Amino acid sequence: MKKIAILGSTGSIGTQTLEVARENGDIEITGLAAGSNIALLEKQIREFTPKLAAVWSEEKAQGLRMRVADTNTEIVSGMDGLLEVSTLGDTEILVTAVVGMIGIRPTIEAIKAGKDIALANKETLVTAGHIIMPLAGEKRVSILPVDSEHSAIFQSLQGNEPKAVHKILLTASGGPFRGKKEEELMEIRVEDALKHPNWSMGQKITIDSSTMVNKGLEVIEAKWLFGVDVDHVQVVVQPQSIIHSMVEYVDGAVMAQLGTPDMKLPIQYALYYPQRRYLPGERLDFLSLGKLDFEKPDMDTFYGLKLAYEAGRAGGSLPTVFNAANELAVRMFLNREIKFLEIVEIIEDCMKAHQNIENPSLQQILDVETATYDRIRSRR
Ligand code: NAD
Ligand code: MG
Repeated sequence: MKKIAILGSTGSIGTQTLEVARENGDIEITGLAAGSNIALLEKQIREFTPKLAAVWSEEKAQGLRMRVADTNTEIVSGMDGLLEVSTLGDTEILVTAVVGMIGIRPTIEAIKAGKDIALANKETLVTAGHIIMPLAGEKRVSILPVDSEHSAIFQSLQGNEPKAVHKILLTASGGPFRGKKEEELMEIRVEDALKHPNWSMGQKITIDSSTMVNKGLEVIEAKWLFGVDVDHVQVVVQPQSIIHSMVEYVDGAVMAQLGTPDMKLPIQYALYYPQRRYLPGERLDFLSLGKLDFEKPDMDTFYGLKLAYEAGRAGGSLPTVFNAANELAVRMFLNREIKFLEIVEIIEDCMKAHQNIENPSLQQILDVETATYDRIRSRR
């Protein structure tokens, strides 16, 4: 039995991870953590019988504690609870599927405790990659990508020398507003932005896909996972989301991973790497597909992507500003407090005002997050 714990078990990646565990039958779930959906968490506790489950608010945790009093699962709460789930004794792999840079501390503590990380939570790597990657190396822990593009790159790197990589071709669907110009984006409503053409995902990443900030976060995520500078990561729009990403080598060979859009493939690959397991589901049919399209990303309209390159190139605390500003701006957009185009305007404003800190400590990262939030709130 493989022993895994999941942070964010009630979300899109979390529930699909549990489906993979259910379908394979040889995964033991040691711990679960979720934000607030205690009805679903209770169901998961009853089905997977983890030792420990964490809920963010203590009040909700108390409610859950009563509901599952007849089980052997202990219920914890808050950041301490998240850290407990992340470092549980016999866990082999921690799946980080919480949304946002709240995942930084749990990820760091899990690595210190020697857990391999199946990483979906890109915001953590974007903001603290300079701490996490060296620490993982030191602790001989694997960081296994779950993000579909990074899994595709990881798969395309198998059996090849890292020094023979010429560049990474990161594919993007272009999101629901591909081809649109600024004038057409002014009155975008939350419901429009939540309609992704190819993937069904959590709300935050769906909005990020519509602004292309998600692709920006992924460029920086690739920098850390694969040790390349951001200018060796080229974004290629591939609207059908069939090519999940590619690697070009020095001899001109391009290796790619293709498939129907299904997050269970990268999740399962991360959990069983280097093994490949059967996965039920739709197969690619090239004959009915006919053709694949490619486009250049429109970085003038979707300049959040351009800002991500700037942040990734500068490094230091600037990626934290990029990410934190986006996290709060997306929340405000979802709450209908700001307009669609203001998301990236806010990111740009915060980045311009920031004095970059080279090699920030964990505390400095968290302070920059707070300062970014304060700036946004004080200006509205
Ligand atoms: P989601 O919103 O569907 O789920 C987030 C999960 O995190 C939920 O279980 C929620 O309860 C939990 N959570 C939130 N705040 C928490 C807190 N303070 N304490 C404990 N748990 C908390 O999000 P998602 O779409 O599953 O995305 C999760 C992460 O994976 C994100 O970083 C996203 O960018 C990344 N990702 C997602 C997909 C996808 O297909 N959904 C693909 C690639 C990468
Ligand atoms: Mg992705």
